[in-house]
Amino acid sequence: MGMTTLERADASAILGRLGVTPIINAGGSNTKHSGTRPRPECLDAMLAMAEVFVQLDEFLLAAGRAIADLVGVEAATITSGAAGGLVLQAAAALTRDDPERIARLPDADGSPNELIIQRGQRFAYDRLYRLPGARLVEAGSETSCTPEEVEAAITPRTAGIIDVQSPFKDEGMVPLSRLAEIAHRHGLPVLCDGASMLPPRGNLTAYVDAGADTVSFSGGKGIRGPQSTGLLLGKREWVEAARLNNAPNATVGRAQKVSKEEIAGLLAALEAFLAEDEAAETARYRAEMAALVEELAGVPGIRAFVAHDRNHPIPQAVVYFTEAWRGPAGPEIQRRLMAGSPRIYISTLGRADVTVDPLNLQPGEREIVAKRLRETLMEASRG
Ligand SMILES: *Cc1c(COP(=O)(O)O)cnc(C)c1O
Repeated sequence: MGMTTLERADASAILGRLGVTPIINAGGSNTKHSGTRPRPECLDAMLAMAEVFVQLDEFLLAAGRAIADLVGVEAATITSGAAGGLVLQAAAALTRDDPERIARLPDADGSPNELIIQRGQRFAYDRLYRLPGARLVEAGSETSCTPEEVEAAITPRTAGIIDVQSPFKDEGMVPLSRLAEIAHRHGLPVLCDGASMLPPRGNLTAYVDAGADTVSFSGGKGIRGPQSTGLLLGKREWVEAARLNNAPNATVGRAQKVSKEEIAGLLAALEAFLAEDEAAETARYRAEMAALVEELAGVPGIRAFVAHDRNHPIPQAVVYFTEAWRGPAGPEIQRRLMAGSPRIYISTLGRADVTVDPLNLQPGEREIVAKRLRETLMEASRG
């Protein structure tokens, strides 16, 4: 057999040899800080799948069906991260199930190739919608958009409407259910990006229920599957059109390959994710973050609190800088923690405040983060 006995690999040996210093990840599932830890069930399934061969189309179809059944939606397929899902959502909107259009991408001239996006929902990854040949058309302004403005942007060249479900991206924008009503009246799909909005687990079906035709989720964020995976779920015809544009076919999605190990890993991770008790998980995160907030008591010029709402999908500790703060803004606090020892990553979400996310904290790390954050803020507060 092809089996060899190996020494158990050692992360500090791997990093030491390369001269790379690990970080404590107290900032959440951000890809640049390596996402999340894959669940043991996920890694186990990946190892097992390394020993067998399958016809990849069959395996992808079957895994997609299993995921759709687990979640309770019409259809699902597996993508190379939520970002890969965005490419496929756009491709599906451009081609539907037409084999000739699928074969022509990224040349999308001659048939509807425009996707409408609300200006206030533009984000760094929206270029991915353009990869298969789509053009983005904006509706509304940075801070507001009305249903009338969305509808006025629709022309015979429109192929779909984008909806971004992400922290701080909904203020002043047209809600998903309203977008869907407009889109469907014009025979158009709604392409929803919900990448980072898990947990809560209810979001797996909430956006579809609100009218999204497909939703792209990360497999490597809250689900804790392989970092390189995502899942695209929703209405059968649009998920199928996305799958036809995806690897392993020689199509526009071919560079977004997902291996049999990753497919099995995502399925196993999703099962474990769904089996977890969300109320207990939330209570645990809340207690961890409350303890961290307590540790920051007495730092002058800040207000620290636990936030758990639409913009903080799991309980997070937010440090808000008040008028009395004399130190530098959030990004500089973030930089100092990353430059310290141990290196600690916290999030700023590009805003003035800083956020600690419990998702990736290992036992004992919350105490270290609290202590270093307190020291860093105390020193910074002296101006
Ligand atoms: C994380 C994220 C993505 C990309 O997801 P990956 O799974 O890392 O490819 C896309 N859109 C939004 C809003 C995200 O937060």
